[in-house]
Amino acid sequence: MGCPTCGSGGLFLKVMECANCRRHGCQNCGRGWTPLHTNPKSGDWACSQPCVYQWAYRLLPKYKSDVFERIHNVIPQAGKKDLILNPISGEASRILDTLYAQGLERQGYFDDAVTIYEFYQMEDEAQRVRGARDGALEFYLRILERRQKNVNFRCEKCGYGLAIPAGTRANTLANCFYCTKPLDMRAVMVFLKKQAEAP
Ligand SMILES: [Zn+2]
Ligand SMILES: [Zn+2]
Ligand SMILES: [Zn+2]
Repeated sequence: MGCPTCGSGGLFLKVMECANCRRHGCQNCGRGWTPLHTNPKSGDWACSQPCVYQWAYRLLPKYKSDVFERIHNVIPQAGKKDLILNPISGEASRILDTLYAQGLERQGYFDDAVTIYEFYQMEDEAQRVRGARDGALEFYLRILERRQKNVNFRCEKCGYGLAIPAGTRANTLANCFYCTKPLDMRAVMVFLKKQAEAP
C-alpha cells in the first residue's frame, strides 16, 4: 500500500489521515504532519499548521488545560486514573493552551493566562497580559480616585477587610496586608469595577 498522495511506497511507510481535513499523506509529502496525541497508536494527525489550529478550535469549548496540574507536579499514577487530563502532543497542547489562555484573558483571568504563557516560556505574551491586567486595575482605581471613594476589599483567604483608599495605585496591590497571601486579582478587579460603577 503506497501513499495515495505522493505515491511513495515501502514496507515501513506510514500513511496518515488528517483529523481535520481528512487528507491522506505520509512523511514524504509535506513536513507539516503533526501528532495530535501522545499515544502513537491513536493515529491522530493533522497535515498542516492551519489544520492543527482548526482541530484545536473545535476542541476548545470543552477543553480544560492541564498546565496548572503539571506545574504542581501531579504525576500520573499507574493503576489509578491518569491525572494528566490531556494526553495531547507537545505541539498540539501548546496551540490549544495558547488559544485557551486568550479566552481566559478575555474573561479577566489574567493571572491564569500568564501562568500558561510562562509555562511555554512565552515571556512577551506573559508581559503583555500583566500589562493589560494592571491597566484594567488602574482604570477602575482612577475612577474611584476621581470620586474620592475609599473601599474595603475582603480577603477571601483570611476575611480581613483590606482598605483601598482613593488614590491607590495598581502596583501596590499584590498581597493581603494581614495574611500576606497573594490576592485573587480577578476578584479584586471584579470588586473595583463594581465599586467604580456603583452610584
Ligand atoms: Zn489537514
Ligand atoms: Zn506521501
Ligand atoms: Zn488575607
